[in-house]
Amino acid sequence: LIAQNETGLYLIDQHAAHERINYEYFYERFGNPAEASQELLVPITLEFTPSEATVIADKLALFEQAGVYMEAFGGNTFLVRAHPHWFPAGEEKAIVEEMCELIISDRKSLDIAKLREKAAIMCSCKASIKANQSLSILEMETLIDRLAGCRNPYTCPHGRPIVVSFT
Ligand code: ZN
Ligand code: ZN
Repeated sequence: LIAQNETGLYLIDQHAAHERINYEYFYERFGNPAEASQELLVPITLEFTPSEATVIADKLALFEQAGVYMEAFGGNTFLVRAHPHWFPAGEEKAIVEEMCELIISDRKSLDIAKLREKAAIMCSCKASIKANQSLSILEMETLIDRLAGCRNPYTCPHGRPIVVSFT
C-alpha cells in the first residue's frame, strides 16, 4: 500500500500489517485457550512415525495448555478431539500439524509460553491477506487504522518491517 500524510510517504506491506494485527489478537487468545476449545464433531486424524508418536504422547499436556485436546488412537495415530474455535477456518489441521512439528523438532526448549507465541504467529500468518491480493480503498484505510492501534505497529511477528517511510 502507498500512503501519505503531512510528514511523508509510506510504503506498507499489507500482509505484514495484517499479520501484526492478527498476531496481537491471537496472542491474547492463546493466553486463555482452554475456555474457547470446542469438541469437534469429526475429530482430526494425525499420523506420525513411531519416534514422533513417542514425543507427541509425552507432550499431550502441553497441547492442552494451548487448547488442543488430542488422544492416542492406536499405533502411531492420534485424534484431535478439540481445539479453540477461533483457529482460522479451513486451516485447523495445518495449524495442529505445525504445532506438532514444532514440538517434535524443538522438544527440549519448547515451553508453553513459546508454543503459544509460535502458534499465534502461525494463526496470524494463515488468517492474513496475501501480498498480491487487491484491496478496496476502504479496506486499505481500515487496515492502516487497525495497524495504528497495535502495540507494535513496526514489524510483523516474524520481525519483518511493515512500513518504510520517506520524508
Ligand atoms: Zn506471513
Ligand atoms: Zn511475518
